[in-house]
Amino acid sequence: MKNVKKIIVVDDEKYYGGDFKDFDLVFIKNTKTYFLDICKRFVNLSAIIIDVNVDFEERVNFIKEIRNDNLLNKMPLFVTTDKELGDEEIELLDLGVIDVIKKPFSKVVSKKINNVIDVSENEIEKLIGINNTSSLYKYIHYVISGNQHKKYSIIMVDIYKFRVINDIYGPEKADEILVKLASEIERVNKKYNGICGHSYADQFIMAVSEYDESFEKELKEIEANINKSLDKIRISLKAGVYDVEDPNMPVITMCARAKFALNEIKDRFDIRVAKYDEALKAAISKENKILSDMKMGINEGQFKVYYQPKYDVLCEKTVGAEALVRWVHPEYGMISPADFIPIFEKNGFITEVDLCVWEECCKFLQKRKNEGKEIIPISVNVSRLDMVADGLVDKVCELVDRYGIEHKYFHLEITETAYANDPEKLNRVLEEFKSRGFVIEIDDFGSGHSSLSILSEMPTDILKLDMKFLNSKQDVHIRNKILYSVVKLANLMNLKIVAEGVETKEQLDYLRKIKCNYVQGYYFSKPLPEEDFEEIIDNENNVLHE
Ligand code: C2E
Ligand code: CA
Ligand code: CA
Repeated sequence: MKNVKKIIVVDDEKYYGGDFKDFDLVFIKNTKTYFLDICKRFVNLSAIIIDVNVDFEERVNFIKEIRNDNLLNKMPLFVTTDKELGDEEIELLDLGVIDVIKKPFSKVVSKKINNVIDVSENEIEKLIGINNTSSLYKYIHYVISGNQHKKYSIIMVDIYKFRVINDIYGPEKADEILVKLASEIERVNKKYNGICGHSYADQFIMAVSEYDESFEKELKEIEANINKSLDKIRISLKAGVYDVEDPNMPVITMCARAKFALNEIKDRFDIRVAKYDEALKAAISKENKILSDMKMGINEGQFKVYYQPKYDVLCEKTVGAEALVRWVHPEYGMISPADFIPIFEKNGFITEVDLCVWEECCKFLQKRKNEGKEIIPISVNVSRLDMVADGLVDKVCELVDRYGIEHKYFHLEITETAYANDPEKLNRVLEEFKSRGFVIEIDDFGSGHSSLSILSEMPTDILKLDMKFLNSKQDVHIRNKILYSVVKLANLMNLKIVAEGVETKEQLDYLRKIKCNYVQGYYFSKPLPEEDFEEIIDNENNVLHE
């Protein structure tokens, strides 16, 4: 079957005509950071075409990002434009752009692009002693496809936190380590009678036919041999492994899969080898799906807000609720925020989701107000990323005012870890929120490392104790002593305190005894859809106000 070349086109207009019909074109509209992520998802991507008419600076930055990216830096890049560029064209070519193409396209453009892609697959790269990538890929392909009866595995090896070694000891030392690693990899490779080569930076590829778990021992031995020859520095190695299923699959795809497995453990000190298996495959395809469906999710109202009641410990009445987002995906059903929030925090989309959640909360409060029902405060989660964006306070005020909600009914939950980035800015923003009548809650208090300094410096009204205070495996007496001290400290500082994750009556009784003000947790209620939550508050006769 003919391999269709996939090209990402960064352009608002989709005017690519019939000449391009043999390519698989994927259009994206702008170059926010998450598009780099999207580009990387396409392991069989052949080229990227970027239009520079809209925002030249932004597009140039995107090109630079691509050039600095380990996975994409060799990708053939083309730029399109309506106007003559002059010196800017030189700047683009200096960045390694292959050609600047004037619109409207002439007939030959698609052919030129096609040829460049073909040639780039043969491009010769710099190598460290052993095979270079493109000839290595070809060789691996030749061997694997020619020995279909054998089961091959692709192994990607790299050095844990190599960049740190580079920064601390300098490039010369780093190169010395790489050369040693290259010869060690060759030595081990001989044992396996496999193929090996350098990929880029500190990464090496092996293709072996008898892979088994003993490879981990080989890695340890390589590490030991290198460390023996080094003074002070200690390296450790990581490997990602892909067992080849289809010997005719492009080798670059096989390597990308081994690399995915490697990425899974790249920050884990405790795991040396990871395999690309069914679980990882499912996780990757789900993550891809989340990335490609997120816009649709917002546009089609698939993000739903659930409310988890917050109870007053003394009178056991609902005094508020936390708004927690859920994604009701047409294919996967209900997706937990734990699965998509970290991805959205990486690609920046969380700010859109948060805004959408906040607006839902405002609508809910407005509805109750219009119906003459009692209003209780809703706490919304504010991501770290929201906090660093300019104009957050005005944005929230505008929203809440548009729905005619008094600010005191809109509580903002900020996680303690947000504090680590830019404490001064965070304090300024929080002061401003407070001065405009919003209530600030510090979320997951006690989960970070700077809790006590936060208490003394961060403008706040309420502390939400991290769930681990109640649910850790620690001895219950020690746990209770810590809980008692934290609650006491909060009381002394005139802060209200919410305990999260209350699941049992014993926990509740103890919290009441030590004068914790509020609790939230499965013991009283799970997060509920709006209607169910309303039913609870409407059925309580005397809803308390803050
Ligand atoms: P969080 O802010 O700490 O929210 C509390 C989490 O604890 C919720 O998980 C809640 O369902 C769960 N929980 C509540 N009571 C109990 C209990 O008794 N036991 C146990 N084991 N868990 C309990 P959920 O809804 O899965 O949310 C996970 C996290 O995702 C949240 O942690 C929050 O950090 C984030 N998140 C949720 N919604 C949003 C949102 O709209 N925006 C942002 N930025 N983050 C959100
Ligand atoms: Ca929260
Ligand atoms: Ca929390």
